[in-house]
Amino acid sequence: MDAQQWPIQEYDRYISNLFAAEDAALEFAREEMVREGMPQISVSASEGKLLHVLARMIRAERILELGTLGGYSAIWLARALPAQGKLISLEIDERYAEVARRNLKRAGLEEKVQVRVGPALELLTRLEAEGEAPFDLIFIDADKELYVKYLLKTVPLLREGGLVLGDNTLPRAVLDAAADSGTKRYNAEVSARLDLISILVPVLRMSGIDGLSISIKQAQRA
Ligand code: SAH
Ligand code: MG
Repeated sequence: MDAQQWPIQEYDRYISNLFAAEDAALEFAREEMVREGMPQISVSASEGKLLHVLARMIRAERILELGTLGGYSAIWLARALPAQGKLISLEIDERYAEVARRNLKRAGLEEKVQVRVGPALELLTRLEAEGEAPFDLIFIDADKELYVKYLLKTVPLLREGGLVLGDNTLPRAVLDAAADSGTKRYNAEVSARLDLISILVPVLRMSGIDGLSISIKQAQRA
């Protein structure tokens, strides 16, 4: 078969089998979400590993996630943390948060990960007031329409040299060139900002191609 005709799923299977094999806790988390009738919109295993590698590259000790769902991406991220590291994950749906807590406990990560329930924008204000910032890495994966608002509110919570990652930023952003979308506005914003160095990386999933926008916060010049 011509390489151009290989389905994307085959490439993802190759990468995942070699670099991102799921252990029992990750498999359990995925199955638990199916049993609970939750949407199957978690990151793929290969993207989970990408998040993990990015967190390790910058030696992240404090991570913030917007949009927990069943805690699948939280497991990949939290496993990149050192012993004293911490991940705070924000989720609007109380029932999803409960499933995530269960999955994280099963992965032995209940000490490192705190799931907070509420609309992310409100929780961010509280986090800041409680002195939880600065964070080394912020993973934006909640309401797509609010991505620019999330960005404006989270960049000040990020240390210089830290990463802000925006998930699912490719398909809806390009399919219809004229259409407006939250993720398209997000890509326009991160690519234009002078305090961020950014790139949009295509990622593979079983459902097809998607994207992760990666931005590094620039050190301010004196
Ligand atoms: N990061 C997860 C997937 C998150 S899916 C993973 O890859 O494993 C998006 C999640 O964002 C859903 O669980 C949804 O309930 C949550 N969400 C949607 N709007 C939100 C909001 N305003 N505040 C916080 N969470 C929100
Ligand atoms: Mg996502």
